[in-house]
Amino acid sequence: MLISGWGAETQQRLKKASVFIAGAGGLGSPVSIYLAVAGIGTLRICDCGELELSNLNRQILHDDSRIGWNKALSAKATLERLNPHITVNALQTKITAETVAGLIGRSDLVVDCLDNFPTRHILNEYAVRNGIPVIHAGVYGMQGQITFIKAPETPCLWCMSAGTPAAAVFPIVGATAGVIGCLEALEAIKYLSGVGTNLKGRMLIWDGEKMEFMELPQKKIADCPVCGHLNRTD
Ligand SMILES: [Zn+2]
Repeated sequence: MLISGWGAETQQRLKKASVFIAGAGGLGSPVSIYLAVAGIGTLRICDCGELELSNLNRQILHDDSRIGWNKALSAKATLERLNPHITVNALQTKITAETVAGLIGRSDLVVDCLDNFPTRHILNEYAVRNGIPVIHAGVYGMQGQITFIKAPETPCLWCMSAGTPAAAVFPIVGATAGVIGCLEALEAIKYLSGVGTNLKGRMLIWDGEKMEFMELPQKKIADCPVCGHLNRTD
């Protein structure tokens, strides 16, 4: 609350907010931990997967004693211990075109902590249709990317990544998910508090091997099947 422009009112705004976190893995861990301790009132964390030993290099919501647990349930247990004054909904359902509406519900914001593009496109479509902003991020090895989507003000995920192959299993250095997940949490806190500006229409790319950030401006696709109709003025 000592941050310029913050104050008690801002903290109340965070308390009233509801955030949907898609994935309780490498990105979902730092995202949900920082949102919980920031006092975001309601976290809806969604993951249908079970915790495996190989997840523990990056999925810091969980620990060795919880192998075999559903990850959303494990996340809820950790987050409620960190901040007992917030509500955490553990959603163990797979995100599909049929389930997405019920899962996101009335959330103010969606944070993409997924590991595959087909599911991301389901989130993107639903969010664009309902005017909900999405913080998108992805990680691979020692690299990551992040952007803030709020169509029609910004391009949607389809505009930026149509044709991206659905990667199968990929490597990741745990701290990479930490770097990019913390940036996602910060983007979420800024959006919900109204303090600062977001990564709208800009893709921030981080190369951890060279320790370099770079930024790529993103363009809308005029006839995008997801957001194209929002851009027409006739
Ligand atoms: Zn689009």
